[in-house]
Amino acid sequence: MIPYGRQDIQQADIDVVLDVLHSDFLTQGPMVPRFEQAVAEKVGARHALAVNSATSALHVACLALGLGEGDWLWTTPVTFVASANCGLYCGAQVDFVDIDPRTYNLCPRALGAKLEQAEQTGRLPKVVVAVHLCGQPCKMEAIHALGQRFGFRIIEDASHAIGGQYQGEYIGSGRYSDITVFSFHPVKIITTAEGGMALTNNDALASRMDLLRSHGVTRDPELMTHEVDGPWYYQQVALGFNYRMTELQAALGVSQLERLDDYVATRNALATRYDEQLAGLPVTTPWQHPDSYSGRHLYVIRLELNQVRVTHRQVFESLREQGIGVNLHYIPVHTQPYYQQLGFRPGDFPEAECYYAQAISLPLYPTMNDTQQDLVIAALRQSLEAS
Ligand SMILES: *Cc1c(COP(=O)(O)O)cnc(C)c1O
Repeated sequence: MIPYGRQDIQQADIDVVLDVLHSDFLTQGPMVPRFEQAVAEKVGARHALAVNSATSALHVACLALGLGEGDWLWTTPVTFVASANCGLYCGAQVDFVDIDPRTYNLCPRALGAKLEQAEQTGRLPKVVVAVHLCGQPCKMEAIHALGQRFGFRIIEDASHAIGGQYQGEYIGSGRYSDITVFSFHPVKIITTAEGGMALTNNDALASRMDLLRSHGVTRDPELMTHEVDGPWYYQQVALGFNYRMTELQAALGVSQLERLDDYVATRNALATRYDEQLAGLPVTTPWQHPDSYSGRHLYVIRLELNQVRVTHRQVFESLREQGIGVNLHYIPVHTQPYYQQLGFRPGDFPEAECYYAQAISLPLYPTMNDTQQDLVIAALRQSLEAS
């Protein structure tokens, strides 16, 4: 089976992890701050906070922004469930904005229209989560301008997008958002096994997220509410969690980060090769905005179903039968049973649902070779011709 995604672990990665195992600290040592500093420097952010997953990063990001009961969080329906669940964790309500049919990202025009309506009914969102689907950045300048006008805060869910750029700057620089989140799950661009990070240029948000990732407990007298009893003293000043990243994970991250630019370049080269090889087939290849350099976490094609005699499901099944580990990113979140029970219905976000009816993620990972890619292309060709 050719998988849809796969990590690349080299001897240098293994060596740094073994070094940590032989060291004094398996957690709360020097590696986590080293990884944080390296990522912050790489993308041009002031603060970076490593946590045990992007889901945790989204949670502490929402809490730091003050999201709570009575508030709304808006995001795209075409994303992993975590981009929406973080709002529910905080007791807020979640709503969605339909996608741009060209980029498959949250559509700034649909966002603007929905905001104008929400202003009338007094239900403006407190937080908007912009997801850079497949690695392609959202139109952040437009979303930021709407944020200024309607008073919401912005989280970039850049789980797919580390190493990519928007308007010539690395994603994570935070020019158009409050907080950016990365995921280091093994299928993502670089990995720490499980792991995530929240980046911000705002000192207060960084300090709050730092507190929340580790029980809400501090040893910093500045954050304490009363006198220090003695050198043993710590204080719990918020209800936090244990969302810490381990030293083993951070060491792997430091080592992987050195290859980030190479990974993204390889992914882009493979994507370009797909674009060229699929040109004659009845599929829509991913359109790229000229402002963006995508991290290319995923390569999603849309089937032109009126041009073929096979169904979406038949093509998907045929590819799996031929040993091609295709996938579908994503089932629109509002159609999930949990969200249906909150009142969402099929038909609520038609562009997202139309995308879902046609999309297939083809295998793409940095160690994929041309022979493997040719196998995927041949299998796709065959599955589209079958009837
Ligand atoms: C993978 C992913 C997440 C969650 O990442 P974890 O590190 O597995 O928690 C969140 N949002 C998006 C868009 C993702 O792809």
